[in-house]
Amino acid sequence: MRPFSYVRAGDARTAIALVRARPDSAFLAGGTTEVDLVRQDVLRPGLLVDINDLPLDGIEDLPDGGLRIGALARMSDVARAPGVIERFPVISQALVLGASAQLRNMASMGGNLCQRVRCSYFRDPASPCNKRDPGTGCSALDGVNRGHAVLGTSDHCIATHPSDVAVPLTALDAVVHTSGPGGERAIGIDDFFLLPGDTPQREHPLEHGELIIAIEVPGAPVARRSVYLKFRDRQSYEFALASVAAAVRIEDGAVAEVRLALGGVGTRPWRARRAEAALLGRPASAASFADAAREELAQARPRPMNAFKVELAQRAIVRALTTLTDGER
Ligand SMILES: Cc1cc2nc3c(=O)[nH]c(=O)nc-3n(C[C@H](O)[C@H](O)[C@H](O)COP(=O)(O)OP(=O)(O)OC[C@H]3O[C@@H](n4cnc5c(N)ncnc54)[C@H](O)[C@@H]3O)c2cc1C
Ligand code: SF4
Repeated sequence: MRPFSYVRAGDARTAIALVRARPDSAFLAGGTTEVDLVRQDVLRPGLLVDINDLPLDGIEDLPDGGLRIGALARMSDVARAPGVIERFPVISQALVLGASAQLRNMASMGGNLCQRVRCSYFRDPASPCNKRDPGTGCSALDGVNRGHAVLGTSDHCIATHPSDVAVPLTALDAVVHTSGPGGERAIGIDDFFLLPGDTPQREHPLEHGELIIAIEVPGAPVARRSVYLKFRDRQSYEFALASVAAAVRIEDGAVAEVRLALGGVGTRPWRARRAEAALLGRPASAASFADAAREELAQARPRPMNAFKVELAQRAIVRALTTLTDGER
């Protein structure tokens, strides 16, 4: 680990200016990603700007039934907020199924969206990795890639996006609000997570020194009946091999409205738009759910070690939808 400077900023403007002033600086929130990577010599910041004094930890109910979650709200506080549990159970469940109780008490929502991939080659400075050192190659392509992505991959990177809560946020069209040198802006979640393409080192459209200030989730009555299912090698303290966030409304036995997103299988939280389109107007039956799941995963590009994820993700979609529509089919 290399020596670095540390400063605690008292307001957003100062924090942004401090980070902007040095190309080797970064924001520090809960530190549960950043500090690990500094310790492992994967990240080598010259300056860490602690943003924990900024007043960005609110969780507000919005007039349209939506939510505004401050970037520094802790995962555990969001998971137990009454408005989240009541109107967006899928968000609460995804948070509770992530990390551990201790980590959730430290980890912020802004940091969660910006957490780095769990690919073991990325986290080993001795291994070639295009995301860590652009142009060096991707060790995972022909290496140990059982946990890697099958959707949205490129020849330059196949790392899975690790966040759980980003999956329901993607299904629910959340918007990321930022403040930066050019002022404030709102970034739709679809545009917030970039596909690796040939620039896997670029994960978000954020400029250096652009601070996430809040995440807004628009009101969505469909989300009252929603669920997050997570499948992994062990039941706690583990990242998803496949996960699904689902919300559905049934009318006269047919699917009238549906939101679906996948985790653990994509290079970004994966909105399952093909499956959504295939489901609309179809009978709420196990057969329709299985057809839609197949349609979504038809675009998968598995490698021999992670080919099982194609079937797993399909089963996850079917399980989530059958769970939600039990009694209506
Ligand atoms: C052992 C372990 C298990 C885990 N398991 C899971 C899991 O199952 N599911 C899951 O979803 N996550 C899991 N995590 C990841 C954890 O949720 C993240 O590390 C955490 O959410 C990051 O938040 P933080 O506040 O600690 O961010 P930091 O570590 O402080 O920051 C992370 C990154 O975000 C940047 N950043 C932070 N805040 C802002 C902001 N407001 N604006 C712009 N940039 C910002 C930082 O500069 C840094 O690059 C796990 C982590 C660990 C260590
Ligand atoms: S999958 Fe991505 S993060 Fe992992 S080694 Fe390849 S380029 Fe690096």
